[in-house]
Formats: sequence, structure tokens, C-alpha cells
Amino acid sequence: SIPPQPALETRNVTVSFGGFNALTDVTMTLSAGSVVGLIGPNGAGKTTLVNVLTGFQSPSSGEVLLGTEAVGAYSPFALRRLGIARTFQAGRLFAGLDVLDNLAVTGVGLGHRRRAAEDMARQVLDWIGIRHLSDQPAAGLPYTDERRVGIARALMGQPQFLLLDEPAAGMSEIEAEELSQLIARIASDLGIGVLLIEHNVGLVLGVCEHVYVLDAGQVIEQGDRTAILASQAVRDAYLGP
Ligand code: ADP
Repeated sequence: SIPPQPALETRNVTVSFGGFNALTDVTMTLSAGSVVGLIGPNGAGKTTLVNVLTGFQSPSSGEVLLGTEAVGAYSPFALRRLGIARTFQAGRLFAGLDVLDNLAVTGVGLGHRRRAAEDMARQVLDWIGIRHLSDQPAAGLPYTDERRVGIARALMGQPQFLLLDEPAAGMSEIEAEELSQLIARIASDLGIGVLLIEHNVGLVLGVCEHVYVLDAGQVIEQGDRTAILASQAVRDAYLGP
């Protein structure tokens, strides 16, 4: 039988910056093949949680688990090699390189030989449907293409988890709809666990099976679309006191 794929979890994670808690006691689970949403007002702690899950921020207390392995002190690079990939709000592509090289460099960084990394890059670009961008310099890309290249780069090396930090920011409704179809495909066809952080709550509720709502560093609600829409706590968080 096929062993169950490990989940990525936080257990009672608190992150304090000089006495201020950006996160307090946050427990969450991201399973293989599912799309999980993370929403909450500005300053709620969403980016801090992504940073914790990807090794950019160590928890002050609590645990980060990849399966049964405690990974809270691992570096971003170590976690990337273990299959936890992310995108950033601003693309962070290598401006001087074309799109194919941006992906290939990442593949080499993950330990693949140059030729294999280029082959993998072409496969990923094909799969997303942006192979035609291969020779474009990253610097001049339109915004939505830059976003999609960022996702393509995160898919290099067949990650198990993909954390998307506001991927739809600045997109039109049609572009956001295309993005949500890509996200659904990443989970269903590649079996990747996707964590989607978004201001566009409609997008999140449309594509996510389970949604966590953060406010002032705490999980104030979680559940499916129906539960989130029915929640008074969520309404209060967004509308303010
Ligand atoms: P969100 O992504 O939900 O907007 P963040 O995770 O960026 O929220 O920030 C949560 C809170 O933690 C904010 O009040 C922010 O100012 C604070 N914060 C984030 N990073 C740091 C840091 N490195 N040092 C001090 N405070 C921080």
C-alpha cells in the first residue's frame, strides 16, 4: 500500500517580536492534494505564518512539523529541498535572466545538473502553459506573467507543498479566475498541498476546501466556505469593532 503523504503543520506556534506577538498559539494543518486558505485583515500575521512554515522565521514557541519531523529550526533552503516551496508578494525573479534560466538556476540550486534542470524547466513551463515566455527577460515581464513564472519556479523540483503569498494581487477578475483554476490543478493533478494567502476573499472561498482566518495573530475561525460565511467572528474581524 502507498504510505500516506506527510502533512505540514504548526502546533501552538507563537512568534514574538520584542514582546509583541505577531502569532499566538497558531495550530494549522496543510495536507497533500488540498487547497487551504489563509485570510485575515492587514497585520493579522499571515505573512509571518508563511515565513514560519518556510523557515524564514523561527517560532518563539510551538512546533512546525513535516510529517513527524520537527522542522521549526530548519533553514529556508533545507525546507525547500524537503519540498516546501513558496512564492513572494513581489516576484523576486532574477531580473537579468530570461524565464527559462530563472527556473533552471533554481533547479541547479536544488541539486540538479544544468541539462536536467533545463528539461525540468521546460516541462513546468509547458504544464502551466507559459512555454512561450521561455526566452523573455524576467525584468520586462507583465505583472501577471511574472506571477505565473514565480509559481512555475516554485514548482521546480516537484515540491510537496506550495505556499502562495497574495498571488492574485493586482490581477483582473478574469486573470484571478485563471489563477484559481491553476491552483486547483496544482492540488488535484500534482497532489501538492497548497496554502493560499489572499486579500481576494472570493477567490479563497471559491477554491479552498478549508480556510483559516487570522486576526491579531490568532486563528479566530476555520472551516469550509459555508462556515466562514456564517461566522460572526469573521464579520467582526473584517468590519472592525
Ligand atoms: P499580514 O501578512 O497578515 O498583513 P504580517 O505577518 O505581515 O501580517 O504582520 C503581523 C504583525 O507582525 C504586524 O503587526 C507586523 O507589523 C508585525 N511584524 C511582522 N514582521 C515583523 C518583524 N520582523 N518585526 C517586528 N514586527 C513584525
